Amino acid sequence: MRNYLNSRASDLKQGGIRAFFDRAKSIENPINLGIGEPDLSTPKPIIDEAYSAMLQGKTHYTQNAGDESVRRSIASYLRTFKADYDPNGEIIITCGGMGAVSMALLCTVSSEDEVIVQDPQWLNYKSQIKFCGGTPVCVPVYEKNRFSLHAADIEKCITEKTKILMINSPNNPTGAVLNKEELEAIAKLAIKHDLLVISDEVYCELLFDGLKHQTIASTPGMKERTIIINSMSKTFAMTGWRLGFAAGPKDIIAKMTILQENLSACAPSPAQFAAKFALDTMCGVDKMRDLYQRRRDIIVDGLNKIPGVTCMRPCGSFYVFPNISSFGMSSMDFATGLLQQ
Ligand code: PLP
Repeated sequence: MRNYLNSRASDLKQGGIRAFFDRAKSIENPINLGIGEPDLSTPKPIIDEAYSAMLQGKTHYTQNAGDESVRRSIASYLRTFKADYDPNGEIIITCGGMGAVSMALLCTVSSEDEVIVQDPQWLNYKSQIKFCGGTPVCVPVYEKNRFSLHAADIEKCITEKTKILMINSPNNPTGAVLNKEELEAIAKLAIKHDLLVISDEVYCELLFDGLKHQTIASTPGMKERTIIINSMSKTFAMTGWRLGFAAGPKDIIAKMTILQENLSACAPSPAQFAAKFALDTMCGVDKMRDLYQRRRDIIVDGLNKIPGVTCMRPCGSFYVFPNISSFGMSSMDFATGLLQQ
Protein backbone atom coordinates (compact mmCIF):
# COMPACT_ATOMS: atom_id res chain seq x y z
CA MET A 1 0.00 0.00 0.00
CA ARG A 2 1.35 3.46 -0.74
CA ASN A 3 1.94 6.10 1.92
CA TYR A 4 -1.06 8.42 1.78
CA LEU A 5 0.58 11.11 3.88
CA ASN A 6 1.95 14.07 2.02
CA SER A 7 5.42 15.33 2.75
CA ARG A 8 4.18 18.20 4.95
CA ALA A 9 2.28 15.79 7.21
CA SER A 10 5.13 13.29 7.19
CA ASP A 11 7.45 16.01 8.47
CA LEU A 12 5.17 16.89 11.40
CA LYS A 13 6.77 15.92 14.71
CA GLN A 14 5.25 15.90 18.15
CA GLY A 15 6.55 18.86 20.22
CA GLY A 16 9.10 18.20 22.96
CA ILE A 17 6.75 19.24 25.76
CA ARG A 18 3.99 16.84 24.73
CA ALA A 19 6.54 14.07 24.23
CA PHE A 20 7.82 14.70 27.74
CA PHE A 21 4.29 14.37 29.12
CA ASP A 22 4.07 10.94 27.54
CA ARG A 23 7.24 9.96 29.41
CA ALA A 24 5.87 11.31 32.68
CA LYS A 25 2.88 8.97 32.39
CA SER A 26 5.08 6.11 33.61
CA ILE A 27 6.04 7.95 36.83
CA GLU A 28 3.87 7.80 39.92
CA ASN A 29 2.48 11.17 41.11
CA PRO A 30 4.80 13.53 39.28
CA ILE A 31 4.44 17.26 40.05
CA ASN A 32 3.31 18.86 36.82
CA LEU A 33 5.33 22.03 36.14
CA GLY A 34 4.78 21.64 32.45
CA ILE A 35 2.25 23.05 30.09
CA GLY A 36 1.32 26.72 29.66
CA GLU A 37 -2.10 26.44 31.16
CA PRO A 38 -3.69 28.20 34.15
CA ASP A 39 -4.64 25.71 36.86
CA LEU A 40 -7.46 28.11 37.82
CA SER A 41 -11.02 27.63 36.64
CA THR A 42 -12.74 30.05 34.29
CA PRO A 43 -14.51 32.66 36.49
CA LYS A 44 -18.11 31.56 37.10
CA PRO A 45 -19.79 34.71 35.66
CA ILE A 46 -18.10 33.92 32.31
CA ILE A 47 -19.39 30.34 32.43
CA ASP A 48 -22.87 31.66 33.32
CA GLU A 49 -22.77 33.99 30.33
CA ALA A 50 -21.98 31.12 27.95
CA TYR A 51 -24.77 29.05 29.49
CA SER A 52 -27.24 31.87 29.15
CA ALA A 53 -26.15 32.49 25.54
CA MET A 54 -26.81 28.82 24.79
CA LEU A 55 -30.22 28.94 26.45
CA GLN A 56 -31.03 31.97 24.29
CA GLY A 57 -30.33 29.87 21.22
CA LYS A 58 -26.91 31.29 20.44
CA THR A 59 -25.78 27.85 19.41
CA HIS A 60 -25.49 28.38 15.67
CA TYR A 61 -22.74 29.26 13.25
CA THR A 62 -21.80 32.91 13.45
CA GLN A 63 -20.30 34.96 10.63
CA ASN A 64 -16.96 33.49 9.56
CA ALA A 65 -15.12 36.42 11.16
CA GLY A 66 -17.17 35.93 14.34
CA ASP A 67 -20.25 37.67 15.73
CA GLU A 68 -20.21 41.40 15.06
CA SER A 69 -21.09 42.44 18.63
CA VAL A 70 -18.19 40.35 19.91
CA ARG A 71 -15.84 41.92 17.37
CA ARG A 72 -16.99 45.34 18.59
CA SER A 73 -16.03 44.38 22.16
CA ILE A 74 -12.63 43.22 20.89
CA ALA A 75 -12.16 46.56 19.11
CA SER A 76 -12.97 48.44 22.36
CA TYR A 77 -10.55 46.23 24.25
CA LEU A 78 -7.77 46.89 21.73
CA ARG A 79 -8.35 50.63 22.05
CA THR A 80 -7.19 50.34 25.68
CA PHE A 81 -3.74 49.62 24.17
CA LYS A 82 -4.05 52.58 21.72
CA ALA A 83 -4.68 50.16 18.86
CA ASP A 84 -7.60 51.30 16.72
CA TYR A 85 -9.20 48.53 14.66
CA ASP A 86 -12.39 48.46 12.63
CA PRO A 87 -14.52 45.56 13.92
CA ASN A 88 -15.83 45.17 10.38
CA GLY A 89 -12.84 44.03 8.38
CA GLU A 90 -9.83 44.34 10.64
CA ILE A 91 -10.73 41.76 13.30
CA ILE A 92 -11.37 38.03 13.11
CA ILE A 93 -12.40 35.74 15.98
CA THR A 94 -10.58 32.42 15.80
CA CYS A 95 -10.34 29.00 17.39
CA GLY A 96 -7.79 29.99 20.03
CA GLY A 97 -4.74 32.14 19.55
CA MET A 98 -3.29 29.12 17.82
CA GLY A 99 -5.98 29.31 15.14
CA ALA A 100 -5.08 32.97 14.64
CA VAL A 101 -1.33 32.30 14.40
CA SER A 102 -1.74 29.37 12.01
CA MET A 103 -4.18 31.16 9.70
CA ALA A 104 -2.00 34.30 9.69
CA LEU A 105 0.97 32.17 8.64
CA LEU A 106 -1.03 30.13 6.12
CA CYS A 107 -2.18 33.35 4.45
CA THR A 108 1.21 35.05 4.34
CA VAL A 109 4.07 32.53 4.15
CA SER A 110 5.10 31.33 0.70
CA SER A 111 7.68 28.63 0.14
CA GLU A 112 11.21 30.01 0.43
CA ASP A 113 10.07 32.81 2.76
CA GLU A 114 12.10 33.20 5.91
CA VAL A 115 10.28 33.92 9.14
CA ILE A 116 12.25 35.24 12.10
CA VAL A 117 11.44 33.86 15.54
CA GLN A 118 13.31 34.28 18.76
CA ASP A 119 15.14 31.42 20.44
CA PRO A 120 13.97 30.20 22.93
CA GLN A 121 10.35 30.56 21.92
CA TRP A 122 7.03 28.70 22.11
CA LEU A 123 7.72 25.63 19.98
CA ASN A 124 4.61 25.70 17.80
CA TYR A 125 5.79 28.69 15.77
CA LYS A 126 8.60 26.76 14.10
CA SER A 127 6.41 23.78 13.33
CA GLN A 128 3.67 25.98 11.87
CA ILE A 129 6.11 27.98 9.73
CA LYS A 130 7.57 24.77 8.31
CA PHE A 131 4.10 23.38 7.64
CA CYS A 132 3.40 26.51 5.58
CA GLY A 133 6.56 25.86 3.54
CA GLY A 134 8.56 28.66 5.13
CA THR A 135 11.90 28.57 6.90
CA PRO A 136 12.10 29.59 10.55
CA VAL A 137 15.22 31.62 11.31
CA CYS A 138 16.10 31.87 15.00
CA VAL A 139 17.42 35.00 16.71
CA PRO A 140 18.97 34.22 20.08
CA VAL A 141 17.98 36.19 23.15
CA TYR A 142 20.36 36.43 26.09
CA GLU A 143 19.96 36.23 29.84
CA LYS A 144 22.38 39.17 30.19
CA ASN A 145 19.76 41.25 28.32
CA ARG A 146 16.94 39.87 30.50
CA PHE A 147 15.99 37.77 27.45
CA SER A 148 14.76 40.84 25.57
CA LEU A 149 14.67 40.59 21.80
CA HIS A 150 17.08 43.23 20.46
CA ALA A 151 16.68 44.87 17.06
CA ALA A 152 20.44 44.61 16.44
CA ASP A 153 20.31 40.82 16.87
CA ILE A 154 17.28 40.58 14.58
CA GLU A 155 19.01 42.64 11.89
CA LYS A 156 21.90 40.15 11.73
CA CYS A 157 19.40 37.47 10.63
CA ILE A 158 17.62 39.47 7.93
CA THR A 159 18.22 38.34 4.34
CA GLU A 160 16.46 39.17 1.09
CA LYS A 161 14.17 36.21 1.83
CA THR A 162 12.97 37.52 5.20
CA LYS A 163 9.28 38.37 5.08
CA ILE A 164 7.89 38.03 8.59
CA LEU A 165 9.06 38.74 12.12
CA MET A 166 7.25 37.03 14.98
CA ILE A 167 7.39 38.66 18.38
CA ASN A 168 5.83 37.52 21.63
CA SER A 169 5.75 39.86 24.60
CA PRO A 170 5.20 38.92 27.42
CA ASN A 171 7.13 35.89 26.36
CA ASN A 172 6.70 32.15 26.56
CA PRO A 173 9.03 30.72 27.88
CA THR A 174 11.30 33.49 29.24
CA GLY A 175 8.74 35.84 30.77
CA ALA A 176 10.55 38.78 29.12
CA VAL A 177 8.56 41.91 28.32
CA LEU A 178 9.64 44.28 25.55
CA ASN A 179 9.69 47.91 26.66
CA LYS A 180 8.71 50.96 24.58
CA GLU A 181 12.25 51.64 23.32
CA GLU A 182 12.78 48.00 22.34
CA LEU A 183 9.44 47.90 20.51
CA GLU A 184 10.26 51.14 18.70
CA ALA A 185 13.65 49.80 17.59
CA ILE A 186 11.98 46.63 16.27
CA ALA A 187 9.33 48.71 14.53
CA LYS A 188 12.01 50.82 12.83
CA LEU A 189 13.67 47.65 11.57
CA ALA A 190 10.39 46.21 10.30
CA ILE A 191 9.67 49.39 8.37
CA LYS A 192 13.23 49.59 6.99
CA HIS A 193 13.12 45.98 5.72
CA ASP A 194 9.43 45.99 4.80
CA LEU A 195 8.58 43.11 7.16
CA LEU A 196 5.21 41.91 8.38
CA VAL A 197 5.18 41.58 12.18
CA ILE A 198 3.06 38.91 13.84
CA SER A 199 2.76 40.14 17.41
CA ASP A 200 1.56 37.40 19.72
CA GLU A 201 0.11 39.15 22.75
CA VAL A 202 -1.70 36.27 24.45
CA TYR A 203 -0.02 37.07 27.79
CA CYS A 204 -0.75 40.82 27.61
CA GLU A 205 -2.77 40.86 30.84
CA LEU A 206 -0.18 38.88 32.79
CA LEU A 207 2.22 41.71 33.52
CA PHE A 208 3.62 42.15 36.99
CA ASP A 209 4.83 44.94 39.27
CA GLY A 210 2.37 47.44 37.80
CA LEU A 211 3.67 47.21 34.21
CA LYS A 212 1.16 47.93 31.43
CA HIS A 213 1.10 46.17 28.08
CA GLN A 214 2.16 48.01 24.94
CA THR A 215 1.52 46.74 21.45
CA ILE A 216 3.91 47.34 18.57
CA ALA A 217 0.83 48.02 16.41
CA SER A 218 0.38 51.39 18.13
CA THR A 219 3.84 52.59 17.02
CA PRO A 220 3.55 54.98 14.04
CA GLY A 221 3.77 53.15 10.70
CA MET A 222 3.18 49.72 12.24
CA LYS A 223 -0.57 49.13 12.16
CA GLU A 224 -0.50 48.43 8.43
CA ARG A 225 2.24 45.81 8.82
CA THR A 226 1.22 44.12 12.09
CA ILE A 227 -1.10 41.24 12.88
CA ILE A 228 -1.97 41.21 16.58
CA ILE A 229 -2.73 37.77 17.99
CA ASN A 230 -4.63 37.45 21.24
CA SER A 231 -6.71 34.93 23.12
CA MET A 232 -9.02 34.34 26.05
CA SER A 233 -6.98 31.30 27.10
CA LYS A 234 -4.44 32.78 29.47
CA THR A 235 -6.16 36.04 30.49
CA PHE A 236 -9.40 34.42 31.66
CA ALA A 237 -8.26 30.80 32.26
CA MET A 238 -10.22 29.69 29.21
CA THR A 239 -7.79 27.39 27.41
CA GLY A 240 -10.37 24.72 26.64
CA TRP A 241 -12.89 27.18 25.20
CA ARG A 242 -10.66 27.68 22.14
CA LEU A 243 -11.32 31.34 21.59
CA GLY A 244 -8.84 33.84 20.26
CA PHE A 245 -8.66 36.66 17.75
CA ALA A 246 -6.46 38.47 15.29
CA ALA A 247 -6.46 42.14 14.31
CA GLY A 248 -4.59 43.35 11.29
CA PRO A 249 -4.58 44.80 7.77
CA LYS A 250 -7.93 44.43 5.96
CA ASP A 251 -6.57 42.40 3.04
CA ILE A 252 -4.96 39.81 5.31
CA ILE A 253 -7.94 39.54 7.68
CA ALA A 254 -10.25 39.12 4.66
CA LYS A 255 -8.24 36.13 3.44
CA MET A 256 -7.98 34.66 6.94
CA THR A 257 -11.77 34.91 7.13
CA ILE A 258 -12.20 32.97 3.89
CA LEU A 259 -9.68 30.43 5.12
CA GLN A 260 -11.64 30.05 8.36
CA GLU A 261 -14.81 29.58 6.30
CA ASN A 262 -13.07 26.59 4.75
CA LEU A 263 -11.41 25.20 7.87
CA SER A 264 -13.88 25.53 10.75
CA ALA A 265 -16.57 28.01 9.60
CA CYS A 266 -16.22 30.04 12.79
CA ALA A 267 -15.03 29.89 16.38
CA PRO A 268 -17.47 28.20 18.82
CA SER A 269 -20.40 30.59 19.26
CA PRO A 270 -21.13 30.15 23.02
CA ALA A 271 -17.44 30.80 23.66
CA GLN A 272 -17.66 33.97 21.56
CA PHE A 273 -20.43 35.39 23.75
CA ALA A 274 -18.59 34.37 26.91
CA ALA A 275 -15.54 36.20 25.52
CA LYS A 276 -17.59 39.33 24.88
CA PHE A 277 -18.70 39.37 28.52
CA ALA A 278 -15.16 38.63 29.70
CA LEU A 279 -13.64 41.48 27.68
CA ASP A 280 -16.40 43.94 28.59
CA THR A 281 -15.94 43.25 32.33
CA MET A 282 -12.33 41.93 32.58
CA CYS A 283 -13.85 39.49 35.03
CA GLY A 284 -11.35 37.94 37.46
CA VAL A 285 -8.23 39.29 35.74
CA ASP A 286 -6.80 41.43 38.57
CA LYS A 287 -7.24 38.61 41.07
CA MET A 288 -5.55 36.06 38.82
CA ARG A 289 -2.67 38.44 38.04
CA ASP A 290 -2.04 39.04 41.76
CA LEU A 291 -2.01 35.31 42.39
CA TYR A 292 0.43 34.68 39.55
CA GLN A 293 2.71 37.42 40.83
CA ARG A 294 2.78 35.89 44.32
CA ARG A 295 3.50 32.48 42.82
CA ARG A 296 6.23 33.95 40.63
CA ASP A 297 7.98 35.32 43.69
CA ILE A 298 7.72 32.02 45.56
CA ILE A 299 9.10 29.94 42.67
CA VAL A 300 11.87 32.41 41.73
CA ASP A 301 13.03 32.78 45.33
CA GLY A 302 12.91 29.01 45.77
CA LEU A 303 14.83 28.31 42.56
CA ASN A 304 17.52 30.83 43.48
CA LYS A 305 18.05 28.97 46.77
CA ILE A 306 18.95 25.75 44.98
CA PRO A 307 22.74 25.44 44.67
CA GLY A 308 23.72 25.73 41.01
CA VAL A 309 20.42 27.25 39.85
CA THR A 310 19.84 30.93 39.09
CA CYS A 311 16.59 32.39 37.86
CA MET A 312 15.67 35.80 36.50
CA ARG A 313 12.48 37.30 37.93
CA PRO A 314 10.17 37.50 34.90
CA CYS A 315 8.08 40.64 34.32
CA GLY A 316 5.21 38.81 32.66
CA SER A 317 3.50 35.60 31.51
CA PHE A 318 3.44 32.65 33.91
CA TYR A 319 6.75 31.04 33.10
CA VAL A 320 10.16 31.05 34.73
CA PHE A 321 13.30 30.22 32.78
CA PRO A 322 15.95 29.01 35.24
CA ASN A 323 19.63 28.81 34.35
CA ILE A 324 20.94 25.26 34.88
CA SER A 325 24.17 25.65 32.92
CA SER A 326 26.33 24.98 36.00
CA PHE A 327 25.20 21.32 35.88
CA GLY A 328 26.76 20.88 32.44
CA MET A 329 23.73 18.94 31.19
CA SER A 330 21.35 19.51 28.31
CA SER A 331 17.91 20.73 29.41
CA MET A 332 16.41 17.43 28.20
CA ASP A 333 18.86 15.36 30.32
CA PHE A 334 18.29 17.66 33.29
CA ALA A 335 14.49 17.42 33.00
CA THR A 336 14.68 13.65 32.54
CA GLY A 337 16.83 13.40 35.68
CA LEU A 338 14.30 15.48 37.63
CA LEU A 339 11.47 13.28 36.43
CA GLN A 340 13.23 10.06 37.37
CA GLN A 341 14.78 11.10 40.68
N1 PLP B 1 0.97 31.94 21.76
C1 PLP B 1 1.76 31.57 22.77
C2 PLP B 1 3.07 32.26 22.97
C3 PLP B 1 1.39 30.54 23.63
O1 PLP B 1 2.19 30.20 24.65
C4 PLP B 1 0.15 29.88 23.40
C5 PLP B 1 -0.24 28.76 24.25
O2 PLP B 1 0.51 28.23 25.05
C6 PLP B 1 -0.66 30.33 22.35
C7 PLP B 1 -0.20 31.36 21.54
C8 PLP B 1 -1.96 29.73 22.00
O3 PLP B 1 -2.91 29.73 22.97
P1 PLP B 1 -4.42 29.43 22.64
O4 PLP B 1 -4.50 28.75 21.32
O5 PLP B 1 -4.89 28.56 23.75
O6 PLP B 1 -5.08 30.75 22.61
